[in-house]
Amino acid sequence: MQDVLNVPPAKWRDDEEISIFSDAVGQFFERECKPHVEEWRKQGYVPHEMWKKAGEAGLLCASVSEEYGGAGGDFRHEAVIIEQQQWKGIDGFGITLHNAIIAPYIEAFGSEEQKKKWLPRLASGDLIAAIAMTEPGTGSDLQAVKTTAKKDGNHYVINGSKTFISNGQTANLIVTVAKTDPSKGGKGISLIIVETDEVEGFERGRNLEKIGQKAADTSELFFNDVRVPTSNLLGPEEGQGFVQLMTKLPQERHVIGLQGVGMIERAIAETIAYVKQRQAFGGTIWDFQNTQFKLAECKTEATVAKVFADHCTQLLIENKLDAATASMSKYWISDLQCKIIDECLQLHGGYGYMDEYPIGQMYADARVQRIYGGANEVMKMLIARTM
Ligand SMILES: Cc1cc2nc3c(=O)[nH]c(=O)nc-3n(C[C@H](O)[C@H](O)[C@H](O)COP(=O)(O)OP(=O)(O)OC[C@H]3O[C@@H](n4cnc5c(N)ncnc54)[C@H](O)[C@@H]3O)c2cc1C
Repeated sequence: MQDVLNVPPAKWRDDEEISIFSDAVGQFFERECKPHVEEWRKQGYVPHEMWKKAGEAGLLCASVSEEYGGAGGDFRHEAVIIEQQQWKGIDGFGITLHNAIIAPYIEAFGSEEQKKKWLPRLASGDLIAAIAMTEPGTGSDLQAVKTTAKKDGNHYVINGSKTFISNGQTANLIVTVAKTDPSKGGKGISLIIVETDEVEGFERGRNLEKIGQKAADTSELFFNDVRVPTSNLLGPEEGQGFVQLMTKLPQERHVIGLQGVGMIERAIAETIAYVKQRQAFGGTIWDFQNTQFKLAECKTEATVAKVFADHCTQLLIENKLDAATASMSKYWISDLQCKIIDECLQLHGGYGYMDEYPIGQMYADARVQRIYGGANEVMKMLIARTM
């Protein structure tokens, strides 16, 4: 799988520890997860025991410091987890969101006390994380969120509803985007941690039925006078939420680019294997020049994507990945992912349209990559602002 593109290893991969870690992660996914993927797709979520197993194997909070219970790695470790998860087709296990998107908010903006309280339990899998930004009335226009958190003594009282929240059925730690001062627009937004096992008034809606990513639980969440201590505010003061989100969204967006490259590699590998054995007109599908040209184009574009994604990973490790470049990774790679998977599906013929074939699943799974984490149009807006 890894060799399908023959891209020379990027500088950040040139470390024996990273390649040993990558192999171990791949073996974990193969051994512990792959046999259950079909069951997870049917039930619509990954059970909590699997999170605990991943925690024991050192896959959760891989880039969080050891003093807070993490594995003490860095973004390289997250990048290889993302890659291996895509290569092995471990659909829907929301580790990346937990590790590379939510834990960094707590590590970057949490107080010492907050980090000690939540990170070790996120690393063990006792806590499963979600981030609740989107609401029924607003997604792209994040500043327009309506959920409020009003101070009442030493508590916040949270009211509002969220939708499309990944890990929404299983998460018990939710980074909630709420307005602590609705009169201030974006400057009135704060991030507040809700530990769902500790509160009253929190309800989960149904597990939403999606066209793809069937094993991932995605839900509506309702906050009805949910009281949390004021010490659950992330950061030293109210009103920092929007800036905190803008600081961390480039990493989230590049994560989507990395997921795209990993899935593209799997799609091409699956397609090469399929067309070389499928017989038609006295030969194989591979024998047609059209098939070879199509796959040559896919391989070329995928190589360009991987080199760019590796470049973005290097920038991120050096703390130099800006919002516009991360937006390029997210929008361009996710568009390419959908295009390449569509070509690969075509070469599978009718079998490609069957849900039991990996390429059909990838076709449906890929589509949301152009929407979540900020729609691709919003990415272009961010890029255009730099010109
Ligand atoms: C499977 C899944 C998982 C998700 N997980 C999470 C999660 O964990 N947490 C969370 O908070 N959210 C999550 N989301 C929500 C996701 O981030 C939003 O769907 C996304 O930001 C778009 O918001 P919206 O759906 O409200 O679309 P809208 O904001 O209504 O936009 C609709 C469309 O309008 C166009 N558009 C919007 N703005 C512009 C613009 N400025 N310029 C040009 N065109 C524009 C785009 O084509 C866009 O797709 C998830 C969504 C899905 C489907």
